[in-house]
Amino acid sequence: MSVLAIVEHDRGLISPASLGVLTAARNLAKQMNSKFEALTIGADADALSETISKYGAATVHQVHHPMLLDFGPEAWGESIAQVVRKTLPQIVIGSGTERGNEIIAQAAARLDLPAAMNCTEFSSIFDGTGPLRVVRARWGGSLIEESQIEASIKLVTLANHIVEPIEHPESTTMSVVDVDLDSSVIHSFVRDRVERVAGVTLATSPVVVSGGRGVGSAEGFAPLEDLAKLLNGVVGCSRAVTNNGWRNHTDQVGQTGTRIAPDIYIACGISGAIQHWVGAMASKNILAINIDPQANIVTKAAYAVIGDLHEVVPAISAEIKRRRDKL
Ligand SMILES: Cc1cc2nc3c(=O)[nH]c(=O)nc-3n(C[C@H](O)[C@H](O)[C@H](O)COP(=O)(O)OP(=O)(O)OC[C@H]3O[C@@H](n4cnc5c(N)ncnc54)[C@H](O)[C@@H]3O)c2cc1C
Repeated sequence: MSVLAIVEHDRGLISPASLGVLTAARNLAKQMNSKFEALTIGADADALSETISKYGAATVHQVHHPMLLDFGPEAWGESIAQVVRKTLPQIVIGSGTERGNEIIAQAAARLDLPAAMNCTEFSSIFDGTGPLRVVRARWGGSLIEESQIEASIKLVTLANHIVEPIEHPESTTMSVVDVDLDSSVIHSFVRDRVERVAGVTLATSPVVVSGGRGVGSAEGFAPLEDLAKLLNGVVGCSRAVTNNGWRNHTDQVGQTGTRIAPDIYIACGISGAIQHWVGAMASKNILAINIDPQANIVTKAAYAVIGDLHEVVPAISAEIKRRRDKL
């Protein structure tokens, strides 16, 4: 009787989404009067047991195999499936990230079990018996679905930024599990890496200054870059921008881009189409700069400036500089 949290990591660096997963798994286990266990994949992740212990897992299953040197969806999914067969948890919960959803799907296919991805809510009265009621966002957030998972073992992923990570230290036992991985099932794995520029990313930055079609060109992003720099933030964009080749897809916010949750999101010349909105809606504050007072993002934002972004953005930067110079 346990709830098993899958800890997503990259060569031993825990993903922030995993902390929410550990918190959600602990809450569910408590509610079900069940044990809270966690699973790490690859020897690189062994050191994460200390962090996991801070979140109160009773046991950390550490999966080891020479093929688990780096991320591989089939190898990770097969590892989860083997541990699930051995430990028979009631619920397996992974993170609602691209990797998290992929490995839970891989495990579910191997176990012949259903899986519900990107859940935003689990039944607060679920006691471990019967179906589990979950709520999840579908179709890019335009549909909120309530469903029941009827299976002996329920596989789910937790939508990102839904559960605030809260520590609750407990003493943790480590258990090393050797899995049996056949090279014929491992079709894809990380083979090479490109060094990323150090610093905040779109997903983690507290300030995101984003531009849409209204920016008009790749060069038009220079004032947004200036403002982001002044605020120690990063620049994001809409899909209209990436489609036009003005910026890389890595900067795109939205359903098919990055989901963000900054302290402030400054959306310049972005209409706020649903596919963009689902990536930005977790922002704590939104300032929309748009010529159209009826634009979707303007009607949803806490703050809006109705005007031409080519005038408004440089004016904000100039005012920040003027005030800083006075200090
Ligand atoms: C399956 C699918 C997935 C998608 N995924 C994503 C996604 O991940 N992210 C995403 O962003 N989109 C996504 N889209 C596209 C989405 O539907 C919209 O087409 C896109 O977000 C529109 O981008 P935009 O707001 O920049 O452009 P528009 O909708 O053209 O809006 C431009 C805005 O700029 C304003 N404007 C124009 N000039 C100025 C100016 N000088 N000053 C101030 N304001 C100005 C206009 O009033 C308007 O509100 C997806 C679509 C599909 C079908």
